[in-house]
Amino acid sequence: MAQAHHNPGNPIELNFAQETVVAFSISALATYALVPELNCAFDMGECPLEAVPLEHIFLTHAHGDHSRCLLRHESLRRLMGMTPATYYVPDETLAGMQALAQVWKELENVSQRKFAPPRFHPLAAGDEVWLHRQLAARAFAVDHTLPSRGYTLFDVRKKLKAEYQGRAGGELARLRKDGVEFEETLWVPRLTFIGDSTIRTLYREPHVGQSRILFLELTFLLDGEQELARKRGHTHLDDLLKFLADCPDVLQNEHIVLKHFSMRYDRRMIVHTLKARLPREFLERVHILI
Ligand SMILES: [Zn+2]
Ligand SMILES: [Zn+2]
Repeated sequence: MAQAHHNPGNPIELNFAQETVVAFSISALATYALVPELNCAFDMGECPLEAVPLEHIFLTHAHGDHSRCLLRHESLRRLMGMTPATYYVPDETLAGMQALAQVWKELENVSQRKFAPPRFHPLAAGDEVWLHRQLAARAFAVDHTLPSRGYTLFDVRKKLKAEYQGRAGGELARLRKDGVEFEETLWVPRLTFIGDSTIRTLYREPHVGQSRILFLELTFLLDGEQELARKRGHTHLDDLLKFLADCPDVLQNEHIVLKHFSMRYDRRMIVHTLKARLPREFLERVHILI
């Protein structure tokens, strides 16, 4: 008989001050995170109906538990008469995803004339895209067993330069007319999503610690599973503890969501182990996605 795992598929609602994230993530089963306020989602291992209106879908990597329902999202939007969404994918996976869409179309016997390929947008590490005038995303490299990207969303705001603060509106208008640059652009990291990853990503990409919200994977928790974690490109609790000891100042995030636990564990064991082993100051900021 199949083992009763900690959550067979129910989405979990995370209420942050400015956004409500609906997410699900268990290793090998599925991962997705919907952020309706920002009109975007990360990964599409399942495609609940609430995901369909979202127009910006970021895929971390091609493993089926993260990518399986990308084409379902695309076809549901088409059926419902919606305009195409944009699917951001690691650039190494673009050709494979396009081929998959083509084969699926042939299996469904859709005529080539009627077929419009999904709107994929490949991203390399360092690439930026704009979701709207004040919201941008930047991709970065993630260490897993195949090409993988993490994504940080930034609120992009204009701010008066220090030397112009307190000046009257009329004076600023005059300065603008004279072409004086009295504003600077601020990129405020809001949310970072990392899919499957070893701990190496955190050592190499410390900027992720500046986001208000950080999604991290933590697949393995038990003693004896360290080697398995390494082999499968995942993070073990020992790795995270070592990172927190090595780099105590890196993760400044207000909210840290731990996700992608192995389906071997039950809920009690996950909560108990994390409470027993994570430092208290860190645990206070943690949301356990189960
Ligand atoms: Zn996974
Ligand atoms: Zn994976």
